[in-house]
Amino acid sequence: MRRCCRMTNMASMTTCPDNVNVAGVTAATDRFSELPEPLVHQIMHSLPFEEAARMSLLSRVFKMAWNTFPVVCFNEDRPKGCFYDLFTREGLRDRIIQKLSYRVKRVNKGTSDALLDRAIGCAVERKVRELDLDFVGPLADNVSIKQYYRFPLVVLSANSITVLSLKGLQFTEGDLVSLTYPSMLDLCIQRCKGIKMLRVCCVKLRTLKVESCASMEKIEVVDAPNLESFFFARVSGEHDLACLVDIFSCKLLKHLTIKEVGISNKWVENHVSAMRLLETVNLTGCKALTELKICHKRLKSLQLNDCRSLVSVDIEARSMESFLYCGQPKPSLFTIEAPRLNARINLQGTSTYEDLREFLVSFGHSREVTLGCASEKVLIFPDELRDRGISPLWGLKHLKVFVTSADSRELVDLVDSMLWLAPKPDVFTVNVQPDSVEKSLQFGYAFSRADEEKDLFCCFGSPIKCWRHYVKEVTSSNFKPKEVKALEKFFRDKAIRLEAIYCNAN
Ligand SMILES: [Zn+2]
Repeated sequence: MRRCCRMTNMASMTTCPDNVNVAGVTAATDRFSELPEPLVHQIMHSLPFEEAARMSLLSRVFKMAWNTFPVVCFNEDRPKGCFYDLFTREGLRDRIIQKLSYRVKRVNKGTSDALLDRAIGCAVERKVRELDLDFVGPLADNVSIKQYYRFPLVVLSANSITVLSLKGLQFTEGDLVSLTYPSMLDLCIQRCKGIKMLRVCCVKLRTLKVESCASMEKIEVVDAPNLESFFFARVSGEHDLACLVDIFSCKLLKHLTIKEVGISNKWVENHVSAMRLLETVNLTGCKALTELKICHKRLKSLQLNDCRSLVSVDIEARSMESFLYCGQPKPSLFTIEAPRLNARINLQGTSTYEDLREFLVSFGHSREVTLGCASEKVLIFPDELRDRGISPLWGLKHLKVFVTSADSRELVDLVDSMLWLAPKPDVFTVNVQPDSVEKSLQFGYAFSRADEEKDLFCCFGSPIKCWRHYVKEVTSSNFKPKEVKALEKFFRDKAIRLEAIYCNAN
């Protein structure tokens, strides 16, 4: 309804009420008709394709602009004959096709369609630059596709293409699919079938994304010296099938993502060290990785998700600022040299509190640590361990906790445990879903030495004094009144030098 109103308003605005002469006769002015054609195209481009088509009915100038509008976007809600008309009808026959997009909204369509193939052929003849074919629609990744659309071979000869996106197509011509496009900048192939080996040879290529194409045995990128981003994800569950990934020639790569592929330790080590411009690396579900060694000067971000066979990770990356690890906390898994690190650790699987403590020691020198877990109980370390173990995140100034589900009755215990993990933080933040409200505690510290008489009865004999000896001020933000009350009692009871508690309500 809202869209309809917008078009109606545009129509009424074509008559300008400003020009009224002395006799009171309105001299209508069609200001829209004065717009230059490129500007009308820009307006049409900003609208959904169907609305742009309706806009062409509003004035002669719009109609002329529509006939030369270089974008054709189509979905299966409209009859295919209508789609083909766009290429053959009088007035549209000479339309330059800059972009052709065909997207289905539901699955299980036919495997081929003569009209659609001819329309794609027309676009290729008219030197289409962007081609987007989606025969999957908004189908979840874990839902299997029952019918694939036969890949129109004419696309292979579309030398003018700069952007190509293919989803839900069946390749049948032999085992090897070789894509060679001289002008191609961005190439995306998702959920396609029949590609045993893929060879991409595109000298101008900047981004390549190949995702969830079943039974692929090899992907090879040759003569793509400008490639900046490489994303390769296999179908989930195929990680143990052999697949060769050959991108060694892509020396200027900046962004590397590998998912569900059985790459080896050496593969990662050799590629990362050879790609001097790498900024981000994402390795997900690479279950063959056991020992990882990464030494890189420019690397800024590293993600290790569910690489469950890892037993040792040695990282030397002084520019690295962002690190994400999702998996089981294993003792002494990481050796990290990255002084400006913001580490996010999503704890998965089961481990003992002792193992978790040993695991976290590697992140003690980070600038910020975020711990994510399903329940806050995972982070509430038992008293006996706290009594005999040294805090693993000593020196950490900003500790964040993300908990999927939490019991607010455990909040004080969680705070107590976090202050053991990181005894002198500037800020401790807790975020509990589904509220997703960021609640924080800011701390001010006393400078006096913790060796007066009142200090004697706490952590006696320990080489490092606990947080209770230094906290002077606490400012809580966004906690509920009940939580504030519990926290105030906790700090008054525990903090030896507490002078003030402030509260910022949410
Ligand atoms: Zn103490």
